[in-house]
Amino acid sequence: MYIKTLLMWLKKMKIKHLYIASIVFIGACAAPTSSYDLLNEKKDKDGYIFYQNEQTYLHVDDLKDKLILPAEGYVVPEYLNLLPNAKREYRSGHHVGVDFSAPFNHPIRAVYDGVIVRSNGYQKDVDIDTYNSFLEISAKVGKTPEDIYNFILLGKSVVIDHGYSLTTKFRTITVYSHLSSIPDDIIAGSVVAQGDVIGFSGNTGTSSGALQNKKGAHLHWEIFFDDSKGRYFIGQNIPTELLKNNIDLLFEQ
Ligand SMILES: [Zn+2]
Repeated sequence: MYIKTLLMWLKKMKIKHLYIASIVFIGACAAPTSSYDLLNEKKDKDGYIFYQNEQTYLHVDDLKDKLILPAEGYVVPEYLNLLPNAKREYRSGHHVGVDFSAPFNHPIRAVYDGVIVRSNGYQKDVDIDTYNSFLEISAKVGKTPEDIYNFILLGKSVVIDHGYSLTTKFRTITVYSHLSSIPDDIIAGSVVAQGDVIGFSGNTGTSSGALQNKKGAHLHWEIFFDDSKGRYFIGQNIPTELLKNNIDLLFEQ
């Protein structure tokens, strides 16, 4: 009411420039309310796997069952750079997965029952110059193109479709990448059960892979949730201080 009166008064006074400046000022003041809302949400995000808005979210209570860890013996890391939302300056993007510190050739297993929908055991690492040129392209485009991401940067990788079996709210897929090798029978169409070995950890798709050395082996693991409006990733809009705790809840048996 006060703002309305002020605007009318300014209009009456015919102080045109001041009137326009006031609208701009009031508009600018409207913006901070969204960050205020975000601050308020922080304390309520306990137990959320991701949170898009009031209608679209996944809470640990929405899971029909729990997952097993993809690399036995390797737990969800604490270091934020290994968790979702971490910035990836070199390719203009954000981390959307979890990096488990599995060493070279550690067996990687399906976290849940499903059907393989992608498996590229015949992926070949590019040389380091080509690798860097892909990163430059990604930086120039302002995001990492899906083809570069899925078929170059993820290296040898497997994607499992879990349908709606993990939660009735979203179709779920899991992604296992940088693998050193993938068994011959893990091909698109193969049915897998929770715990089946679907590959072995490595560093394909990383700069170390491009350099043909054995450094930096780890499992980059992703889980995505799809509905008619889009795709959501683990940890999406979850405050950093809750990330590890909330992701741990996926695996608590
Ligand atoms: Zn990663």
